[in-house]
Amino acid sequence: MESKRTAILFIMDGLGDRPVPDLNGKTPLEFANTPTFDMLVSQGQSGLMDVIGPGITPGSDAAHLALFGYDPYENYPGRGPLEAQGAGLSTKPGDVAFRSNFATVDENFIVQDRRAGREISSEEGEILQHALDGLEIEDVLVRFIHTVEHRGALVLEGPGLSPRITDVDPHETGKRVLECKPVVPEAEKTARIVNKLIQLSNEKWNALDMNKKRIERGLPPANVILLRGQGQHMDSPTLFERYGIKCAVIAGGALYIGTAKYVGMEHVLVEGQTGTIDTNFDNIASKVIDSVENYDYIFVHIKATDNASHDHDVNQKVLAIERSDQMIGKIIEAVGDRIVIAISGDHSTPVTIGEHTCDPVPIILWGTNIRPDKTITFCELESSIGGLGTIRGHDVLPLLLGYSGQIEKFGA
Ligand code: ZN
Ligand code: ZN
Repeated sequence: MESKRTAILFIMDGLGDRPVPDLNGKTPLEFANTPTFDMLVSQGQSGLMDVIGPGITPGSDAAHLALFGYDPYENYPGRGPLEAQGAGLSTKPGDVAFRSNFATVDENFIVQDRRAGREISSEEGEILQHALDGLEIEDVLVRFIHTVEHRGALVLEGPGLSPRITDVDPHETGKRVLECKPVVPEAEKTARIVNKLIQLSNEKWNALDMNKKRIERGLPPANVILLRGQGQHMDSPTLFERYGIKCAVIAGGALYIGTAKYVGMEHVLVEGQTGTIDTNFDNIASKVIDSVENYDYIFVHIKATDNASHDHDVNQKVLAIERSDQMIGKIIEAVGDRIVIAISGDHSTPVTIGEHTCDPVPIILWGTNIRPDKTITFCELESSIGGLGTIRGHDVLPLLLGYSGQIEKFGA
């Protein structure tokens, strides 16, 4: 077996792209000045990756599950549990979780404002949270956390729950909050609990002084909870259970932290890390370097590349790639002989399109023990002739663990 190293997966969200006319037909990755990536490619291997499968346009959450070595078709729990974990609410197999909004309704449950004016202070959010968190409805425990503005996450914990229920959010003002209905007979209990919860949120929140003060100030009261994105924590084994590896996530966005925690990674907090271009790349590099001796596997996520792509902002995408390159350069300089690293994206988000697409993404696999192929620069075009060929997202984890000496030999 290879000697033991730490495996690092570095993802620039939405990295893959298409030729951009403003860049003379180059892609942002091809255009960007990336001396580190080019050095790593020339010393290691590159290829293309269909993260979920050929022709499949990935959502970020499902894509990350694949990159962590899970079949998303078997293990994708829906958005709720991933958001809940990202917000700091733990979930376990069987729990049903939701994303939520504070909203404003009149006495007939007609929605007046789906976001209760949006401006909810953290003090107000905390009051609303305390009024709901810890409630018991039948034998089900309600756990609720306020995140930012009008948003939060909610977990139902108890026996016999199912996510196969209809939405309560009418997604429009002037319409009544919808009754939750079971889609399958096994979800009858969950639908009943949700309807009761909506009712209780209205009673408890209407009675709060905080809401009376909001009305006095001319603000809409936050007097009902709207739930969406329901999903159930599935019985998927964690990475530790599958491979005996201790894993860390270093990310700014709640969804990425949550998806990583869902498979058992520990969140390592970095001061100044955000989901934007203003994230502190130097602090991330230092934290990765410090974490190498404590973890077997580290997942590092940069969101700015995808934000720039959705905004059609090619310069910002190039900048995010160049800053990532400098950051990885620092990591390689400090701990290059102790790691194996894969560098890629979770999907393509071409800046000319502004949406995720099914184009495969370029990937680098590097370690001082990995033999080189003939590619010498990191971009979509060159990666198409790299030694890795075209792989799938779920191939990345075994490649990293194999070269970092963390998978047993198969057979005698
Ligand atoms: Zn993404
Ligand atoms: Zn995106």
